[in-house]
Amino acid sequence: MRIGIYPGSFDPLTNGHLDLIQRASKLFDHLIIAIVHSETKKSLLSMDRRKDLVSQSIQDLENVEVDTFRGLLVDFVKKRSGTAILRGLRAVSDFEFEFQLAVTNRKLCPEVETIFMMPNDSFTFLSSSIVKEIASLHGDVGQFVPPPIQKALLEAYSKD
Ligand code: ADP
Repeated sequence: MRIGIYPGSFDPLTNGHLDLIQRASKLFDHLIIAIVHSETKKSLLSMDRRKDLVSQSIQDLENVEVDTFRGLLVDFVKKRSGTAILRGLRAVSDFEFEFQLAVTNRKLCPEVETIFMMPNDSFTFLSSSIVKEIASLHGDVGQFVPPPIQKALLEAYSKD
């Protein structure tokens, strides 16, 4: 059984993440989207909200589930018997950080591989931060995120 682990903040999930999830669900027998509890990164949406929104967005993908973790990613990967960590590469600018992360994880746990996938080129510009910025300025993010996430962003920024 090949189990892929796709870690990230998903604050919020975008259509770029979803594109990668759809591609990876065909490569792995089972794919776990692993939302990280970060002590340093302040998130817009709570962990429960992010988890619920990801669940709603992957309903039609039978072999995909969502989970959360704290602490070291490699410990979570071992706990869930993961075969490989999945990460996305949008542009060269992602490479340096992703390279550092992959090499560090390999040092910590040599038996876990990191696999990189590229989204459809129409999503290479898309990030959670840019979506939040547009939403915070009351712009329409309908083409960038699934409908439940658009609604959550509208609510989150309605007080401003
Ligand atoms: P993190 O805080 O770990 O960077 P993100 O939720 O921003 O978490 O992203 C998780 C992973 O998804 C990262 O590998 C990131 O490069 C990738 N990713 C983010 N946006 C896209 C996108 N539009 N297309 C493909 N991969 C993406």
